[in-house]
Order: sequence, then structure tokens, then C-alpha cells
Amino acid sequence: GGSGATQSDLQKARMRLSLQEHLLHFYQNNVNIPTEEQAVARRAALDICAELRVFLHAKLPDMPLREMYLSGSLYDELQVVTADHAQLMVPLILEKNLWSSIPGEDTIMNVPGFWLIRRENLEYFPRNSSYWDRCMVGGYLSPKSVLEVFDKLVAGSINWPAIGSVLDYIIRPVVPSETLTLEVQYDTNRKLYVDFLPLLVMEDGTSLIAKPHRLVAERHENLWRQSFRVAETARLRALDQEDGGCRCACLKLAKAMCKLNPALNRLNASQLTNCILLLCEKEGDWTQEALADRFLQLLRALVGHLEAGKLPCALSPKVNLFCELTEQEVDELGYTLYCALSDPEGLLRT
Ligand code: GDP
Repeated sequence: GGSGATQSDLQKARMRLSLQEHLLHFYQNNVNIPTEEQAVARRAALDICAELRVFLHAKLPDMPLREMYLSGSLYDELQVVTADHAQLMVPLILEKNLWSSIPGEDTIMNVPGFWLIRRENLEYFPRNSSYWDRCMVGGYLSPKSVLEVFDKLVAGSINWPAIGSVLDYIIRPVVPSETLTLEVQYDTNRKLYVDFLPLLVMEDGTSLIAKPHRLVAERHENLWRQSFRVAETARLRALDQEDGGCRCACLKLAKAMCKLNPALNRLNASQLTNCILLLCEKEGDWTQEALADRFLQLLRALVGHLEAGKLPCALSPKVNLFCELTEQEVDELGYTLYCALSDPEGLLRT
């Protein structure tokens, strides 16, 4: 009867309370990175960035680039577990009249969230009128070819051992690497991975990065990936600032859970961030006391999106953030998270 319901309510409340404690404990001990560790990692990344700027200016003065800069979770207080990676953004300058952008949904591939960059006016401005024509493949700017240009430079012609010994790091390009990555050992047991990320910023502010579509088919090779990272991270932070909310904490818990569980490695920061942003449209209570409830709700929402095979980007709903997962990966992720609903603490063990 009625008293039975009350008892199970009480039990649920107790479980939530203990999950809340467990999450806070996990946050302190596993998610959060000591300030000092973050500072040393940022310092190492900055040193490398400075060396590369000097090298590129000296060696390739006419390569049309804007200033490179570092970015990523290490710079937004959103990195978790260990301070071990950063992105080095390399903005290319394209001549407006020579290149145009075509959204992925208007191409034969029909992939919203990806773009083609087409070379225009070849009859008046023949090949090599633009520096980046050397990276043109079949009439389009190829992100793969752009990465190869940097790969040759960074992996081929920079004397990393010499630079490393000056800076007191051990630096080496990671081979093979899908993107171009430097491994920087900055302490006997600490490594930092710095990804080169060439990027195009279009007139309306849209950012495209040279990070290949994962399910590489040849016809996908020329696709540039739209990046929502700056906007989605800013939105999450702004919402938290308005109400002193726990959204960023919830994101970091979820990121750590995915980083520490091999079965969840496929879920990335952008998917988790957008899942939380979508949840924010329905759910108003993000007070610190509601952390465990929201965390469970996030897991349920992820299971729901995985079941549907679709996670719309909160900033551009036509973009499916699961479009690069295989059916099998979707099933496995869904299964792991579904099982976690009844024992979330199992995924927070280390
Ligand atoms: P974390 O690596 O899980 O901590 O997540 P981040 O928020 O740092 O995101 C880094 C990932 O997002 C990398 O895989 C990048 O390739 C990708 N990414 C997409 N757009 C951007 C961008 O504008 N800046 C950076 N730094 N990374 C981006």
C-alpha cells in the first residue's frame, strides 16, 4: 500500500544522496586537476607554440596564416583527470574571391556540419594565384593536403631534439597520427600531446577545422568539419554563471567517466556538452544539490539519443553529432550507459 511507496521513495532518496556524495568525492579525487599541474602543462604548450611561430615566420614568411594560438579544455578549466592535451590552432588566410564554401547538406554526401571549400575563378586567377592552391584536390581545398603540408614541416624539418634540449623537454612528433600531434614529455612522468589544428574562419564567423570525417570514404576526404566548440562552451558557462549552476561540473564528471572507461571512449566533449545543453532546455534546476539528479538525467538522455541514433547539435539541430559512430559503436555505448543507470557508481570507480 501507501507506506510501501513511501519506503521505496525513501530508499531512492538515500541512493541519490549517496550518489551525490560519491560524485563529489570522485570530482575531488579523479576529475579535478591540481592547479599546479595545469600551469606546468600550459607552460610547456606555450613554449612549443612560441618556437613554432619563430620557425614558421623564418622558414615560410609568405605562408598566409594568422597568428597561431592554443586552445581546448586546458584553457577553459574543462580538462579532466590529467593535464595531457591541447590544440594548437593554425588559422589559414584564404582570398575571398578565390574560395567559396558549400554546406555539406548541399553536396552529394549530404552531411550537415561539414563543408566543402571550392576554388573559384580559376579562368581569371589560374592555379597558384592562391598560396593554398597547392592543397587543391579536384577543385576543392583538401584538409588532408593542408595537414600534409604542416606534417612535412613539423615532422620533417624542425629539429625537435635540439629545441627540446633548450626547453628541457623531450619532444617528438607522434607517428602515425591521424591529425598531426607532438608528444612533449615535460616531466619524468608527465606527457602532453599537442594537436595541430589548421582552421578556416569564414566571414560570418563559422569555424571549419581540418579534422577528417571519421568514416573515411574517399568522397569525404575534402570535407572540412564545422566547429561549434567555442559557442557551445561559452553557452554552457554563461548558463552556469546566471544561476551558479553545476552544468560544467556535470560535464567534467561525464568527461572523466568517458575517459576512464574504455567502453565509453568514443563519446567526446562536444557530444556531452550538447546533450547537457539540450537538457537545459527542459530542466531548470541546476543547483549544486541537484548534481546527482542531473547526472543521472544526463545518462538517461544519452541512452535516449543513442537509441534514436541521433544527437542534434544544440546550436544547429540539423547536425547529428552521432553521425560518425558506427551502428555497433552506438549499440555498445547505449548498452554500457543503460547498464550504468542502475549502478552509476560502477562507472566512477578508478
Ligand atoms: P577534451 O579534449 O575532451 O578535453 O575536449 P576539448 O573541449 O578540449 O575538445 C578538444 C577536441 O575538440 C579535439 O578533438 C579537437 O579536435 C576538437 N575541436 C573542435 N573544434 C575545436 C576548437 O575550436 N578548438 C579546439 N581546441 N578543439 C576543437
